Amino acid sequence: MGLHPTNNDTAFQSRSTEFIVPLSQVSYLCSNIGMRWQGQTLGETDASALPGLESLGGLVRSVTTPEFAGMTFHEVHAKSALNHVPSASAMPFDWTVNPYRGCSHACGYCFARNTHTYLDLDAGRDFDSQVVVKVNVADVLRRELARPGWVHEPVALGTNTDPYQRAEGRYRLMPGIISALAESGTPLSILTKGTLLRRDLPLLADAAASVPISIAMSIAVFDDALQDSIEPGTPTAAARLATVRAATDAGFRVTVFLMPILPHLTDSTAMLDHALARIREAGAARVVFGALHLRPGAKEWFWQWLEREHPELVPAYRGLYPGVSAYAPVGYRKLLSARVRPLLRKHRLAGGAEEDAETRPTRPGPVRTTGRPAEPARLF
Ligand code: SF4
Repeated sequence: MGLHPTNNDTAFQSRSTEFIVPLSQVSYLCSNIGMRWQGQTLGETDASALPGLESLGGLVRSVTTPEFAGMTFHEVHAKSALNHVPSASAMPFDWTVNPYRGCSHACGYCFARNTHTYLDLDAGRDFDSQVVVKVNVADVLRRELARPGWVHEPVALGTNTDPYQRAEGRYRLMPGIISALAESGTPLSILTKGTLLRRDLPLLADAAASVPISIAMSIAVFDDALQDSIEPGTPTAAARLATVRAATDAGFRVTVFLMPILPHLTDSTAMLDHALARIREAGAARVVFGALHLRPGAKEWFWQWLEREHPELVPAYRGLYPGVSAYAPVGYRKLLSARVRPLLRKHRLAGGAEEDAETRPTRPGPVRTTGRPAEPARLF
């Protein structure tokens, strides 16, 4: 999953309206940042649930189908849709909606993996293939948005797992969510790796006449073989860039999250230049970049992948991410910035490093209905 800060930042912009919301690391949560499932408890322990899924209260049924070989969808009736982000969080938004738990995009660096263990499922293969589907999420959301106390703060989608993962092709939850938010006057942002976003562009374009909408596409790996290895369930970079083009043509200022940048694998100047040239060619307005984070829960799985696919890099990665270190050293991140910033200028792309703007706003930025086309972002 985009937003982000400084007083002049116009992070959350739509086709015809704009409002100011800090832009920071938040926007790539699904890619590489962990977030608690605050308020997302699906229910109490359910003695009648299928073995191993006792904590999935509200479970309606578990579904396997030949169209989605290897996948199991656990359909649940969720009690809540809006999740409040803890105020201590650095995330620059207060509310999220996550229609799915687990993600078939199966990224090896995904921080959300550990959340599956709360369901007595494992953070590896189960996270990729056992997806919890909140089949009633749009109805519940509509009820919550209709409460008198709801003040239409921006809602972020794609901050934990991808709302346009493969399951969305079957369940079509996003149209109901988008409509519910737009009809209630609630601004929204979407961060995804999923090309299924294209299906909903006409709906989003209509909704953008009513509320500010921000769209961001996460594209970290432009080498197809490497992408297939580390993000085996995702569409190719070319397919995602085509979706960026489609969203741009539909009138949106699209942000691309070039993250996580993988040390020694995707961080050479030539690779970054190639990536940014393609992003620019696709019509994106802005790029947010950042180095790989390896928080607990993601680190173990990434390590397994690295040892299997690139054992020659294990010593280098142990040097960059020793022990429980989750972040690449400051020196590495400065080096990365020194490489990327001139390339952003070269390709006339706005944006910057995710760590440039990590401050949580005191409150969501003011909604400014300007009726003017959005100005170029001045984010960093
Ligand atoms: S796309 Fe899915 S698997 Fe990949 S980082 Fe986001 S939530 Fe995790």
